[in-house]
Amino acid sequence: MQKTEMKNLVWFRNDLRTTDNTVLHEACKTGNKIIGVYCFDPRHFEIDKFGFKKTEKFRAKFFIETIHDLKEQLHQLNIDLLVFQDLPETVIPKICEEHHITDIYLQKEWTKEEVDSEKLVKSKTEHLNWHHINNQLLFHPEDINFEIAKTPQVFTMFRKKLEKYVDVRQELITEKQVEDNRIENNTIIPKLADLGFKDFEMHPHSAFPFKGGETEGLSRLNDYFFNTKKLGFYKKTRNGLIGVDYSSKFSPWLANGSISSRTIYWNVKKFEKEHFKNQSTYWLVFELIWRDYFKYVSMKHGNQIFKLEGILQKDYDWSTSQTKIDKWINGETQSDFVNANMNELKETGWMSNRGRQNVASYFAKELELDWRIGASYFESLLLDYDVHSNYGNWMYVAGVGNDPRDRKFNVQLQAERYDATGKFRSIWLQPSLF
Ligand code: FAD
Repeated sequence: MQKTEMKNLVWFRNDLRTTDNTVLHEACKTGNKIIGVYCFDPRHFEIDKFGFKKTEKFRAKFFIETIHDLKEQLHQLNIDLLVFQDLPETVIPKICEEHHITDIYLQKEWTKEEVDSEKLVKSKTEHLNWHHINNQLLFHPEDINFEIAKTPQVFTMFRKKLEKYVDVRQELITEKQVEDNRIENNTIIPKLADLGFKDFEMHPHSAFPFKGGETEGLSRLNDYFFNTKKLGFYKKTRNGLIGVDYSSKFSPWLANGSISSRTIYWNVKKFEKEHFKNQSTYWLVFELIWRDYFKYVSMKHGNQIFKLEGILQKDYDWSTSQTKIDKWINGETQSDFVNANMNELKETGWMSNRGRQNVASYFAKELELDWRIGASYFESLLLDYDVHSNYGNWMYVAGVGNDPRDRKFNVQLQAERYDATGKFRSIWLQPSLF
């Protein structure tokens, strides 16, 4: 590549958007030339210590779609996205040298794998200026009214400290760059086969029949909020199990950062102004606070969230019976409700929140299996895998996290309550569907 005057490199990871992206905004503000880089990191497709592929085909496809859209959105801002299927520590130092990069901008992460990967890149680019920027929270860490080390142990306390006292910052708009910012870009976005997967069709019963990418995420928001006004019924429907609209389905876009929680928040406010305000509009924000909560919990406790004893440091007798694990994964347990949910996950990469609570509780409390194995299986399969929400929720349900009550779900009663007619089970227990 020819020598240019470029200076800033934006390393995209879990912030795959142009709307309200603080990292991109800060990099653009400098007036320096900018290039974007995204790596399909081979480590994300390896087998983990429990035998699961870290990323299965559902999320892999979603990521590919997301990167196609990100490239297009950046193109419209006159910014190029270089895409590689390689290790960041191999690619980024080379790009920095070729393009005379002086500054690297990236979203601040604090979990082990993300930090380890950064360290490897840093060890080869120590002379550059690194800018780690908060870009994934609703409540900015500089605005909160407590130290992170003092993040409340109980969600209600956390919420009460924030929702009335801390303002959510405004969304950011990134201006189009001048045209000569563009570079020659011959990089190619990998296909599913390049990542080791066969092409597949979305299951006809999937509750998440959407594609990856900022454009699709924003269109879902527009549809759920403004076209259909389903937001106004969210609190009544959010425990549903079937179909597209019982909940927002924002999580896969939120997880890889193709939509920001601030964008969702400010659109709730817009909806409340233009239409109406009720318990449902409040409740969607309430759930976004749960999302922030698990992020603050992981900031506070660091790698403890991945440990068997969790942040409560509780010792239980955990089993690792492969037979029991396989039965759970394959929908062959004693509970038809658990089985239906597990089949849905295996076939679609999606499971409702109600389903997740039940199957996780069954795994940890009924089968008494090492909860980290269940969490790793979720990590592999889920379209919306998010390290903080996944490990935080799993610890919570397994009784080693933030729930002081240490509850066990009665899956039979839950099925009677949330699948009274048996319709959900009839969909996901039909052998002909698979
Ligand atoms: P909605 O009900 O429409 O809620 C809106 C948003 O609020 C969600 O998109 C999500 O960002 C947030 N939210 C809602 N509930 C929770 C919650 N309990 N914890 C944190 N954030 C929440 N969520 C993930 O995004 N990634 C995960 O890897 C993940 N793993 C989970 C594992 C277990 C065992 C359990 C019980 C829950 C897990 N969740 C996870 C939380 C929750 O189930 C999903 O966020 C939710 O089902 C996504 O659907 P939705 O976007 O339609 O949510």
